[in-house]
Amino acid sequence: MTQLMRDFTSGVLNLVFPPTCVHCGRQGALLCVICLSESTLVSRDVCRKCAEPLTKPGTCTRCVTERSPLDRVYGSYLYETAVGSAVRAFKFDDVRALGSTLSRLFDIEGMSRSTADVVMPIPIHNSRLRSRGDNQSEILARNSLNFWKSNSRVTC
Ligand SMILES: [Zn+2]
Ligand SMILES: [Zn+2]
Repeated sequence: MTQLMRDFTSGVLNLVFPPTCVHCGRQGALLCVICLSESTLVSRDVCRKCAEPLTKPGTCTRCVTERSPLDRVYGSYLYETAVGSAVRAFKFDDVRALGSTLSRLFDIEGMSRSTADVVMPIPIHNSRLRSRGDNQSEILARNSLNFWKSNSRVTC
C-alpha cells in the first residue's frame, strides 16, 4: 500500500471512528493537547548518563557506584505522564498511529539536546518481533532519523 493510500485510509477511518486520547479518553487525538500540555518535560537537571532527574546536573549515585556502561541517555518527557501512557499504548497495545506523534515529541525535546552521532533502536528477540509485528523502538528511531537527517549531521 502506498503512503498516499495509507493517509487516505487513515483519514477515512478517523472520520468514521474519531481517535480518542489513550490517557484521558477525550475524542480528537490519540494524545490530546490537554494531556500533552500537562506532561512534564525532562529537565536539564538530569544524570548525564541515565537521564534520571536530579536536583542539579551531574551523575546519579547509581551510575557512579554501578559504573554504568552508558555514555549518555536523552529523555523528552517523564514516563509517569500522559506521554508515558502513549508510549505504553504504542508498545504494548499496538497503537502504531502513535509512532509519528511520539517521534515528533522525541525530535523536538530530546534531539535538540543531543550530541549523538547515531540513532540505534534497541533490538528485540525474534519471537517478540513476530508476536508484536514490529520493533516499536525501530519505528521511533526511523521517524526521528528522518528529522535528524534534515536538521543535522547524524547518520545511520
Ligand atoms: Zn488526553
Ligand atoms: Zn544515572
